[in-house]
Amino acid sequence: MCYQDLFAAGRRKLQQPLLPLARLAQLLRLTGSFPTMAAVLAELPDPLDTGSGSYHRPADLLAPYLPTLEASDFNDSSALPATLYDEQGKPLPAFEAAEAWVGQQILARELEEINSILCGPCSCTLCCTGPDRTMSQELFEIPLSSQERSLFSLPATDSPASRQCTALSEPPLTLGDRPFYELGPGLYRWESGWSLILPRGSSCPHLEDGTGRCRIYPGRPEVCRRPQIFPYLIERAPGLDSSAGLPAYVARRKLLAVWDCPYVRDLKEEIASYAEACGLEPVFKQNKG
Ligand code: SF4
Ligand code: SF4
Repeated sequence: MCYQDLFAAGRRKLQQPLLPLARLAQLLRLTGSFPTMAAVLAELPDPLDTGSGSYHRPADLLAPYLPTLEASDFNDSSALPATLYDEQGKPLPAFEAAEAWVGQQILARELEEINSILCGPCSCTLCCTGPDRTMSQELFEIPLSSQERSLFSLPATDSPASRQCTALSEPPLTLGDRPFYELGPGLYRWESGWSLILPRGSSCPHLEDGTGRCRIYPGRPEVCRRPQIFPYLIERAPGLDSSAGLPAYVARRKLLAVWDCPYVRDLKEEIASYAEACGLEPVFKQNKG
């Protein structure tokens, strides 16, 4: 099936990523005599050509991101709520760290909007169901924060044994001599944190029968907001967290898009161009099946 007409709004957004525009504003803030980022936006010409595209009303486009842009201090990475490293484990210089942190926030927010626009027309529930009979996996996993756990009224398992393994460990966690995934959907506290487990043939309790809608859509978990194009400009690296609890991230500069998703398959070229304009390496991968 071709979704091209239904994808028009999402395609337009992919063709005009905000990150190149945000980077230009960051550069002007750093090198110009602007006292604030708001002052930079006020002086942006309209239209503005960044080299990778022409932006109409650039100040209006960046206005929703102003708090994120203002919060970063490009001369002092200790102002960031995280520590950022390169792939060799060395701390990033202040400007690179701020640029990567802000870039990730901008990409995450923009891609949440783009993914929501694109998912709607697909009438697809792949992200909200366990594997079907044609798939090799026994379960799908939806990672949750400990606060998001309360969104689901499902049996919860948090034991020394569950905390020492993951949902994909072999042999699997057993409960009453049975692999955990034979007991139906449930919440589990693993070594890596909480997740919702959807075994083969099951679906999320919030998936509405017949319509395929999410009953808690406005308050759905973070991970449900991000399918199926993920920004990995930086990636969480818990092993590098500081002893004071400051979270650590490693700069990856990648954009992951999951082939299982119909809009990813239809918009491969647009997704690759979006990544390139943002200075990211596009990575397409199959997750399920
Ligand atoms: S919470 Fe909503 S979006 Fe997330 S898996 Fe369940 S039905 Fe799908
Ligand atoms: S696979 Fe894609 S279209 Fe299907 S539910 Fe997930 S995000 Fe939506």
